[in-house]
Amino acid sequence: MEILHVSAECYPMAKVGGLADVVGALPKYQSALGHFAKVVMPMHRTRFLTDNEWEVVHKGTFDMGKLHYDFTIIKEKTNKLGFDLYCVDIYGLLDREKVYGYNDDTERFMAFQIAVLEWISKWHHKPDVIHVHDHHTALIPFMMKYCYAYSNISNIPTLLTIHNAQYQGWMGWDKSMYLPSWDTWRWGQLDWNNNINPLACGIKCADKVNTVSPGYLGELMQHANGLESLFNYEMGKCSGIINGIDYAVWNPETDTFILDNYNLKDFTNGKHLNKQALCREFQFDENLPLFIFIGRLVNEKAADLLPGSIQWAFQKFGEKFCCLILGSGESSVEYSLQAIARRYVGYYNTQIKYNEKLSHQMYAGADFLLMPSRIEPCGLNQMYAMRYGTVPVVRRTGGLRDTVIDYGETDGYGICFNNPSMDDIVYSIGRGIELFENKPKLLEVRNRMMNINLSWETSTEKYLNLYHSIIH
Ligand code: ADP
Repeated sequence: MEILHVSAECYPMAKVGGLADVVGALPKYQSALGHFAKVVMPMHRTRFLTDNEWEVVHKGTFDMGKLHYDFTIIKEKTNKLGFDLYCVDIYGLLDREKVYGYNDDTERFMAFQIAVLEWISKWHHKPDVIHVHDHHTALIPFMMKYCYAYSNISNIPTLLTIHNAQYQGWMGWDKSMYLPSWDTWRWGQLDWNNNINPLACGIKCADKVNTVSPGYLGELMQHANGLESLFNYEMGKCSGIINGIDYAVWNPETDTFILDNYNLKDFTNGKHLNKQALCREFQFDENLPLFIFIGRLVNEKAADLLPGSIQWAFQKFGEKFCCLILGSGESSVEYSLQAIARRYVGYYNTQIKYNEKLSHQMYAGADFLLMPSRIEPCGLNQMYAMRYGTVPVVRRTGGLRDTVIDYGETDGYGICFNNPSMDDIVYSIGRGIELFENKPKLLEVRNRMMNINLSWETSTEKYLNLYHSIIH
């Protein structure tokens, strides 16, 4: 099968969050099973771009509204990632350092999608499936069906994967002029509450839709940032497939970012050495349980509850634990997290940045990972933590509910709580401290979670079955 993934992110070319990890891993696993998986993404100006060799495979032009653009498709030369990686270069629009966050993101991702379709419609053969990811690429199924220029590819089946339904890419109807000439009778496919809503449009027009966990799909029926009724209406073509983790990248036995490698059978010493190094770097006492948080400091992740919860936990339990935070996001949260650092020197530290290497060292060196998320479509952090022997402390929501069982339950291995509240977080930190002090139980929990199969293999099969169900 030939599968073309279209995405804004792909690890290691450009990563903001879990989307990149998924698009960097799933095609690799599909290729390993003998399929021909390709990824096309915008040519962000990243280190991976400059560190690798590329060849030009296509040049084209298109009009978007009153503007005329030239675009180039380049391909990474050596199949370094285990699949073909293509990037779209549109001078002045896509060749920027950040993936998102520009005032003209609407124009940038519209142009990206048009360029991809211009390119595919010129291929001599057709891919079997076009797999689009999140709202940045969700207008593609609509454009394939209803833009006259792409009628030769309108029959290619499409799958939309929703990694996060909070972000939908809304734009005013004035932006409809950017779309290549289309069948205006179909305006209803684009519309949601008098705006163009790319995610809603993708849900309506793709042949199948999936979310990154079954639990999240269930929640979207009730809370989907305005799309609840659409999810209920389109339920027949929706399913949930939990993400896996890429064992080539996330494996304590081979991870080159961590100080001391360890395996699933013999991890006590390796984990200890990683913790020792991390504690030395941040002047923590290595004999205390170390809690970490890694992620975007945003409301969805309940990062706003962290400063209060951490202070309250220090008041309640005394200096019986350490805590290290890595992330960036809302400036008020960044500020509050940094402000408390002065009060708990030697027990608490915040690193406001994005740092892939440090994140690996933290998964390897910590005892507990905090994830109090309000919304978590799948969550990868808890799976990385489990693989590295770090106990996830999670709120029961979305993919966290699907992947973590409380250690108080049969065959459990994590710490779970119900509410995104300071009470629940502090109580769970207390349970973590208790578990840390019960060494035989901690060892049992670690053994159990490190041996869970979290690989992409099972989910890759599920995606292949989904493709088969839409290939005519
Ligand atoms: P989301 O995609 O909603 O941000 P996920 O749990 O699906 O959340 O994926 C988050 C990914 O981003 C993980 O690989 C995590 O390690 C990584 N990550 C998030 N913030 C940072 C950071 N500040 N530094 C390094 N890695 C980070």
